[in-house]
Amino acid sequence: MDKPTGPTERPCDACGAAALVAFSEVGDLPIETGRHFASEARAMASPVGRVVLGRCPRCAYVRNLAFEATLVDPAAPTDMNLYHSPTFRRFCSGLIVDLVDRLPVRGARVLEVGCAQGEFLKELCAVAGCTGIGYDASYAGPEGPDPSGAELRAGPAPLDGNLPPYDVLVSRFALEHVDDPLSFLSSLRRQAGDRPVVAHVQVPDAGYDLATAGWEVIYPHVSYFNVSALCAIAERAGWRVTGTGAVFSGLIRYVELSSAPGAARETDDLGTPLDLGLDAARDAQLAALRGFDARHHRMRRHWAETISRLADEGAKPVLWGAGSRGVQLLTFADPKRRLTAVVDVNPAKWGRFLPVTGHRVDPPDSLPRDVRAVVITNPVYRAEIARSLRDLGITAEILAA
Ligand SMILES: [Zn+2]
Repeated sequence: MDKPTGPTERPCDACGAAALVAFSEVGDLPIETGRHFASEARAMASPVGRVVLGRCPRCAYVRNLAFEATLVDPAAPTDMNLYHSPTFRRFCSGLIVDLVDRLPVRGARVLEVGCAQGEFLKELCAVAGCTGIGYDASYAGPEGPDPSGAELRAGPAPLDGNLPPYDVLVSRFALEHVDDPLSFLSSLRRQAGDRPVVAHVQVPDAGYDLATAGWEVIYPHVSYFNVSALCAIAERAGWRVTGTGAVFSGLIRYVELSSAPGAARETDDLGTPLDLGLDAARDAQLAALRGFDARHHRMRRHWAETISRLADEGAKPVLWGAGSRGVQLLTFADPKRRLTAVVDVNPAKWGRFLPVTGHRVDPPDSLPRDVRAVVITNPVYRAEIARSLRDLGITAEILAA
């Protein structure tokens, strides 16, 4: 599949300089990927939506051309509830120390757009001695000021012009969910006005995921940004790019931005724009995208066959991790439920059922001790899961999908 998008032709949301070209029909995916259900029947009745990926030949931005915003409930829980994992908590705490070290966060007014349940903002405020306001449509805790200095609000951030003043903008795993990512970033730049605002924006790094199996291709992800696409959209939205990097073993990409006037890109003393290696990154990503459709469908077949074979051999294969990547693997590779169990460390998921395939989620300590194969979808958690398996007395091979 590699053809112009025809009647749905759409200019690139990131650079605006080319039309998006369809390159992979991923198929129908669960829409409520971050949810779990009290009954198996309700879980299996959860809706699906079509994903057709299109790429920009100019900046390597990728978008689901079949995305329909009306199908997604913004107040539905997202895939951000990872704080039950010590690996993720450690990553976030390290990131906060790093941000406080590098950015003018101390004593500042922080705005977090898409704060999930507020864990990150509260810790940032406590560590930096700053105040913060966080918005998230899925926020389910108490609203109002918190002793940490953070104030959390349930609901989308008022991007239409009524945001409180901010010096530091943080946004993590929000940009890829919005239907109009350019308006999202433009509005935040406009509302910064002429204040010197710095921003730290994180997304799943499409430079990793679309170059591998594509387990982060989920319906709520409208956009897929690698570094060249992320910088293109930030600059077009009026921000100045001051830096970028990959963290969390390359799964997460961040870009740092400034509202300071001047060239779109940070320059050195001689006025030379910061070299971010964007052309090379774009070319590498476009090359990876050319192989995506075949690779993605090959990996789906491979894991379906692997799970069936392990089940036939009596290895009692299980999936550890019922987050969005896990739900994808189940959708793609275990629709017939050959897995012996699906476990997760998040107690809120125990005894609940996952969308579309209807797998039940159980606590890790419920695993039969003779499980011989444990499938994981995020290699970052391998050490943490290996330790837990040892503690449970389970000797199993860990297979990273
Ligand atoms: Zn583009």
